[in-house]
Amino acid sequence: MAGSAEAARLRAEIGRREQELRGLRERLAAVLAGPPEEAAEAAAVEAAAAFPGELPPLAAQASLSRAAILRYSRQLVLPELGVRGQLRLARCSVLVVGCGGLGCPLAQYLAAAGVGRLGLLDHDVVETSNLHRQVLHAEGGRGLPKAVSAAAALRLLNSTVQYVPYCGALSARSALQLVRQYDVVADCSDNVPTRYLVNDACVLAGKPLVSGSALRLEGQLVVYNYRGGPCYRCLFPKPPPPETVTNCADGGVLGVVPGIMGCIQALEVLKIASGMGSSFGQFMLMFDAREGRFRNIRLRPKKPDCAVCGDNPSVTCLQDYEAFCGSSATDKCRTLHLLSSKDRISVEEYKKVLDEQVPHVLLDVRPQVEVDICRLVHAVHIPLSKLEEKNEECLKYLEKRICEEKQGTNGKTAFPVYVVCKLGNDSQKAVRILQELPVKELGSVLAKDIKGGLMAWATKIDPTFPQY
Ligand SMILES: [Zn+2]
Repeated sequence: MAGSAEAARLRAEIGRREQELRGLRERLAAVLAGPPEEAAEAAAVEAAAAFPGELPPLAAQASLSRAAILRYSRQLVLPELGVRGQLRLARCSVLVVGCGGLGCPLAQYLAAAGVGRLGLLDHDVVETSNLHRQVLHAEGGRGLPKAVSAAAALRLLNSTVQYVPYCGALSARSALQLVRQYDVVADCSDNVPTRYLVNDACVLAGKPLVSGSALRLEGQLVVYNYRGGPCYRCLFPKPPPPETVTNCADGGVLGVVPGIMGCIQALEVLKIASGMGSSFGQFMLMFDAREGRFRNIRLRPKKPDCAVCGDNPSVTCLQDYEAFCGSSATDKCRTLHLLSSKDRISVEEYKKVLDEQVPHVLLDVRPQVEVDICRLVHAVHIPLSKLEEKNEECLKYLEKRICEEKQGTNGKTAFPVYVVCKLGNDSQKAVRILQELPVKELGSVLAKDIKGGLMAWATKIDPTFPQY
């Protein structure tokens, strides 16, 4: 009997590895066949269809093998864990949603500690700008799906753990079926729709959700839906307006900060899985890296009128979370559409303005720290924040520069001001502000934003311009 169970387990493992290999081969073919965007798209489409099917439950072991005793000896002698706790870990499966800055250290410690099975989910591929914080991925893995890259790195660390890569985004269609197969879920994602989706799936499937986040020099951690505690929706019934959400690409992040939060997530997963229990079912942990300070904030209890975990829930199946949140779960950069097309020009059109030496002012509204990284030399720099507060000195300076550039034009038509930022979101906000200024402030001005910002300039016009 034991032999046939082992054979079935091995067959399942072989199936998984073959699937992974197929994915890699197709990905390689796609990379060789076309430009990177198309290849990434092809990989995403191919990968989305490649979610492994239902997994067999992990078998209970009666005792630890000699190899396991040696490997886990330093934690086995902890009275809080012991053999019983280690055997519980070996029976535990954990779904890691997002193999990035939080998911990498989390998965690394869970694999090292000997959890039974790790589901590794990510829709994205490894890029150079990930490497400062996503420590399972290496230079050689650039272009690979993150779930595959993470599984390969973890297998080198502990080959006795089962790794199940899911190369694709979590969808309302797949989430519940997936979450039901795991004992604990770790939310290591970086966007609001996924947070709601994972939360609702965990509530509906009755699974604890260890949720981490990190941005700039701050981190947060909560364990939702755990021992009668609140869920994510209890705390945040409504998603924030999409334009107020900052991600790591916009706001920046010091790599070690998600590293620290991912490690604490791993700690809480291990405490739940081994039977010790988590400390954060009723508390939020807040980490301030600048001050080196941790704070525990008591959470409001579970809300009886919560839409998903309350007494009369209105959310009884998973919904369209991108529509609910007004933002995408897979966009690396959120794209705002504040302006109509008549108020915007493309980078190609702006290049023509430059080539034809049409008099204009280019206004760069990025923060100073980004201007220090790279800039177009002829740009006038006023950060969006200064425009928002209608800073008098800055407006005077802009007016002066417009006057200078206007020399030699007939002055009868509105003077063009092209506004640029990194990606073309802040520049739209800035154009709105300029349009709403009374004419006496700047004279007659025609403000337009440059679609896609300086990153579009770097990819489409000037390949020597740095991308960040
Ligand atoms: Zn709730």
